[in-house]
Amino acid sequence: MGKLFGTDGVRGVVNKELTPLLALRLGMAIASHYGEGVRILVGRDGRAGGEMIMSAVIAGLLASGAEVYLAGRRGYAPTPAIQYAVKERGYDLGVIITASHNPPEYNGIKVISSLGIEIDRETERRIEQVFFEERFRLVPWNRVRDEVRVDDEVNDLYIKGVVDKVDKNLVRSKGFRVVVDCANNVASITTPEILRRLGVKTYTLACNISINPYREPEPTPSSLQETARIVRTLGADLGVGHDGDGDRAIFIDEAGEVWWGDRTGALLSRYIAEYKSPKNVPRAVYTAVSSSRLVEEYLKKVGVEVRWTPVGSINIGYRLLEEGGIAGFEENGGFLYPPHLLARDGGMTLALFLEMMARENKRASELFNELPKYYAIKTKIPMPRNKALEVVKALIDEYQAKGVRVVTVDGIRVDAEDYWFLVRPSGTEPVLRIMVEAKNPEKARQLAEELAEKARRLSRQ
Ligand code: MG
Repeated sequence: MGKLFGTDGVRGVVNKELTPLLALRLGMAIASHYGEGVRILVGRDGRAGGEMIMSAVIAGLLASGAEVYLAGRRGYAPTPAIQYAVKERGYDLGVIITASHNPPEYNGIKVISSLGIEIDRETERRIEQVFFEERFRLVPWNRVRDEVRVDDEVNDLYIKGVVDKVDKNLVRSKGFRVVVDCANNVASITTPEILRRLGVKTYTLACNISINPYREPEPTPSSLQETARIVRTLGADLGVGHDGDGDRAIFIDEAGEVWWGDRTGALLSRYIAEYKSPKNVPRAVYTAVSSSRLVEEYLKKVGVEVRWTPVGSINIGYRLLEEGGIAGFEENGGFLYPPHLLARDGGMTLALFLEMMARENKRASELFNELPKYYAIKTKIPMPRNKALEVVKALIDEYQAKGVRVVTVDGIRVDAEDYWFLVRPSGTEPVLRIMVEAKNPEKARQLAEELAEKARRLSRQ
């Protein structure tokens, strides 16, 4: 049977892999799986093709008897706002038209369960079955709902949910100045308003919705260079860059340095453990194997256990649901704060970060410089997935024999005395990803080269 869902929903280039026909059939498959009368909240980000794909999905949902609600008149809302509304307002399901951080020509469809988390892999598989076997259940003509209702409260509810979970007066008292970069997408609707309610003087960059974002939708140290210059020039206290659907936040300190999300995740986890952690929750955090080992080094000191997961925020969400914990995070800027949502949330992450700066009375750079220093190198080598898996297998054999700590939940991760590395096949592209960090920059460079060379050699065999 074919596969439709990837690491994070269904993704493809608009009108190439992702056509209205596919969207229509997926809409029918989703509502057929859940049954007539299922109440579904639908929304989208501001990407090209969004209106077309969303209309097709809605037609499919209605055909199979769903009751459809739209997140505002045009459906615009950040992913976490839709997830939060599904959970808080008791919808059975959410459907979001978004391709998150992918390049602008992409769009996608993801399905949210009533808990506000993406549906689990087993449910995805069942929906795929209905889709590929065409077991659509269309309702009789007089039972097709004749109206798509508009839920106007989705974004407001979310903004209020975020602001209420931090100490507003404390943040207000600091008079922070913040640059927010919304990647010309839906965080424009919510993040500036969250900041306004927290009494922050806000400078907005790319906080209007456009299908031609001024930078690539993935926030990284390279895509945020211009934003970082603006933060420094304005002398702002903090900068934040979101991805296309507003579930990630990458921070820029007042000196203009851009920090990966595992650094932010480590700081916030320590802060939550010290000041906000509710009783009866294990002092544990969940993070993907792509996070730096500095996370463990730093959090061990405050008695917080790090539990490693495969890459993909859904894995972190379900571990938090099943085992409990104070937070979850990814190196790409995704941060999960369970009292709010068991999913990534860029707006919540920003509010927590400001509260941490206020309570500890520290500048952003001071906080980030608390962390152990590692030099990072990331590369990728094009190769088919089966070759990439062979390379990983060969490396596992080699390193297990060496007696170092080897983690194999996703690719191979090796933690040695003064370095760590991760080699894994990408979940979305035909490439092998290599991440290396070491305390010494020369060691990091040398190890990255060695691994790349070894991977090329093995992939040719
Ligand atoms: Mg995203």
